[in-house]
Amino acid sequence: MQQFDLIIIGGGCAGLSLTNQLIDQGFQGQALILDSRSRYEDDRSWCFWDKQPSTYQHLISQSWQNWRFSSAAKPIQTQACKGYAYHYVRAADFYGYAMTQLDTTNQISLKLSTPVLSISPDGDGWRITTPQQDYLASQVVDTRPPCKETLMQASLFQCFVGLEVADIDPLIAQDSLDLMTEMRVAEQAFCFNYILPISAERTLVEVTFFSNKPIKSAVIAKYLDTLLAQKGWQQANIIRQEMGVLPMGLPQFKDANPMSPSAKNYVNAGIGGGALRASSGYGFLRIQRWAKQAADAMIQRNSLVGQPATPPVLAFMDRIFLQVIKQNPELGPIIFERLLARVAPIRFLRFMDDRPSIIDLVSIIISLPKTPFLKGLICLVLRR
Ligand SMILES: Cc1cc2nc3c(=O)[nH]c(=O)nc-3n(C[C@H](O)[C@H](O)[C@H](O)COP(=O)(O)OP(=O)(O)OC[C@H]3O[C@@H](n4cnc5c(N)ncnc54)[C@H](O)[C@@H]3O)c2cc1C
Repeated sequence: MQQFDLIIIGGGCAGLSLTNQLIDQGFQGQALILDSRSRYEDDRSWCFWDKQPSTYQHLISQSWQNWRFSSAAKPIQTQACKGYAYHYVRAADFYGYAMTQLDTTNQISLKLSTPVLSISPDGDGWRITTPQQDYLASQVVDTRPPCKETLMQASLFQCFVGLEVADIDPLIAQDSLDLMTEMRVAEQAFCFNYILPISAERTLVEVTFFSNKPIKSAVIAKYLDTLLAQKGWQQANIIRQEMGVLPMGLPQFKDANPMSPSAKNYVNAGIGGGALRASSGYGFLRIQRWAKQAADAMIQRNSLVGQPATPPVLAFMDRIFLQVIKQNPELGPIIFERLLARVAPIRFLRFMDDRPSIIDLVSIIISLPKTPFLKGLICLVLRR
């Protein structure tokens, strides 16, 4: 049976980010990545706010200095933050970079079309069972998504469908993106448009819902068709589609996947390890930071590090926010308008980036509608 120092289950964002860091930091062991997919496709894009230029500049294909938001009550407003930009990473570039990195090493190999069926203790390590064969590993990083049962425990679901379209007419300005425009209630959920002009020729057009229950992609696609028609883009060439149902606020992450034991020399990472920020569904930067720490710990101390937990104050604020949106989706536009209009952009970005100061937090709390948040707080406290 083949034996490895480390097996990474899942070669998606978290698995490949860890791989990149291990290679950069000179990992000397033998590692194997196992993934169920048969090939890498341009299946998504990752956006995040970061300094300009960003640490991840080598992966970024577009950046915007301005972002817009609007609702039925408020016309379009534009926001910017000096020194920061909203960055765009295409999955094709991310996966391509990781494959190039893997080509430079004999230490780490990747096996596609290899779904992991089970994991069981074996001596001091783990036995990983796949349809083709079993493997032994001293350490396991498991980045498989949580099972459906766990996912369904999320407070809210961020459901979206997007199309990358080409040759649209009329063209839109390249320097700004629609972060949250036409914020409204639809399907009894908070809903908004997300439009990224990713190049002179191509635009990513998405409709997103924060909903109490998963919304079918076919339902969202109808809203997307309406948006394309409104913009006069029905005839645009469709380059690719992306969609997702992201869990916002999973209750806990231990044993997220019942197939995988939580034990020594084993750690969950990625979404299954709690990588998504509950209130936003953003995870890319959190995964990158975890990957750097995890590779460092593995190389320096031969130890495994899981995704750092969201700081308790932020986690609590996120829970109240999710509770409020869950009970009052119609407050979504008001909350985000206030956050974006009343809080200095740098404070909002630090909050989104898990690094707010006390003054940032106070400024955010002051901007929010008091009664629903107080009710949300009481609801959470009573439920404890
Ligand atoms: C369409 C989309 C757009 C997103 N956009 C953003 C964004 O703009 N900004 C942001 O911060 N976050 C975004 N996210 C959220 C988050 O950053 C991504 O979902 C990210 O890919 C999560 O990384 P991961 O490694 O946990 O999961 P994945 O990247 O999905 O990787 C999991 C891997 O595990 C493999 N796998 C699954 N089951 C098995 C098995 N049994 N055996 C072996 N392998 C298995 C899968 O094939 C996959 O390769 C987006 C998510 C989606 C779906």
